Amino acid sequence: MDWEAITVEETASLTRTPCECCGKTTLQADGDLHHGNVWISCYSVRWSNCSDAPPPLLTVYVGDGSDGARADQRWAIRSYWRSEGLGLDDWSAEERAAITLFTLLDREDVLDTPFATEYWSMIDAIIMKDSRLEALRA
Ligand SMILES: [Zn+2]
Repeated sequence: MDWEAITVEETASLTRTPCECCGKTTLQADGDLHHGNVWISCYSVRWSNCSDAPPPLLTVYVGDGSDGARADQRWAIRSYWRSEGLGLDDWSAEERAAITLFTLLDREDVLDTPFATEYWSMIDAIIMKDSRLEALRA
């Protein structure tokens, strides 16, 4: 799947909340990805202007998006957008305890699988096409 063929739909406006430590703005952009007329995933990008904050975090959700779907029918994958680029990242124990609606895939679950290629196309589409990420691309 070519990232250029993936359409980004910005489903919510940018959410702004004050950072708990310094009051600087934390932002979140949510959206859906489509390939042709087919929905392929939803995603969120979270970043902060706080100097103590981690790099921007992209989370992609794939699988059955319907309300009744079980956790083993949908998956969540994430990547931090570091200055040297994006890589696959693991979930923390706290996140594993808190997130029960999805199967959380770590780096080792995705690396060198056919899905990894698709994942990077989705990530490229998000970072290239979501207009709210303009400041992060600069
Ligand atoms: Zn802060």
